[in-house]
This record gives sequence, structure tokens and C-alpha cells, in this order.
Amino acid sequence: MSLSIVVNCDRSGPYGTCAARFYSGTASEAEAYEEAARDGWDAGGGIDLCPGHRPTPPAPPTRLHPEETPRP
Ligand SMILES: [Zn+2]
Repeated sequence: MSLSIVVNCDRSGPYGTCAARFYSGTASEAEAYEEAARDGWDAGGGIDLCPGHRPTPPAPPTRLHPEETPRP
């Protein structure tokens, strides 16, 4: 018998919960979350979100002229 962990997306919307699933190849919860994270999931923090629902990290500000020191 083999056992593996499936990570479900916890995002719910007006049409029900998200159908995204991540089928890990491990029975260890920590490893399953690791695999999911490598696949773009935001998992393991209580609420698991698929790559399509995870909040996008804010992009670092782009300096147009890095050689100039900004003046107050
Ligand atoms: Zn989702």
C-alpha cells in the first residue's frame, strides 16, 4: 500500500472552492509542502493556495538611475 499527500487549494470563490490539487509523491506532510512550493504553490502556512491563487510577491522597485543618489 502506498500513501501520498494531496495538497488542495483553499481559495473559495462565488462558484465554490478551487479545484486545483497538487498530488505529491510523498507521505510526509513537510515534503509534500516542499514539492508543492517547488511547483509554485503557496502551501504550508495554514492556508494552501495554488499557483493561480497565491498572492504575487511585490516586485522590487526599479531604480531608473542607480548611479544617482536620491535627494531628499
Ligand atoms: Zn486555487
